[in-house]
Amino acid sequence: QEIGKVISENFRNIPDFPQPGIIFKDIAPLLSNPAIFKRITDAFVLALKDIDFDKIVILESRGFIFGTAIGLQMGKGLILIRKKGKLPGKVEQFSFDLEYGKDVFEIQSDALAKGEKVVIVDDILATGGTADAACRLVEKVGGVVSAVMFLYQIKDLKGEERLSKYKIINLHVE
Ligand code: 5GP
Repeated sequence: QEIGKVISENFRNIPDFPQPGIIFKDIAPLLSNPAIFKRITDAFVLALKDIDFDKIVILESRGFIFGTAIGLQMGKGLILIRKKGKLPGKVEQFSFDLEYGKDVFEIQSDALAKGEKVVIVDDILATGGTADAACRLVEKVGGVVSAVMFLYQIKDLKGEERLSKYKIINLHVE
């Protein structure tokens, strides 16, 4: 079965979470089945085969899951972007709007060497605000974004417009 089909058939749509009117894509069934999780990881790795990059930047929280699996398989180091107040030492900060609410992301100031190339990994591309914040933080600490990569893009929210400067890789768009 094609990877896009595996993904779309195994998401659960949860209405009115975390707020009324939002239909939340729940990735739990994709994670609890090890064969599916492995297929997803392999599809990410394959999608990166021709991308030139040094490190994987993973976004709290669900980006951590996929990015870790990819990093292990490809032998690439991981850099964390976390919500405000979680990372020790000197950090850079960026505030951004979400589909629902606001958030502040941080990266450690010394996370990347100057010119180091990264792939940013998260689960869902919705409005693109989260990934845009991550790109800015990477650039703020001297990194270069080779690609931003997602399991699933929610097509109607047009996140690709917000990320038009960057190469976007989606395993599935719907
Ligand atoms: P954006 O900033 O692109 O609007 O939203 C993407 C971020 O919010 C991602 O970090 C993603 O994990 C989370 N997100 C937004 N909508 C959903 C959803 O329906 N399901 C899941 N699993 N995450 C979502």
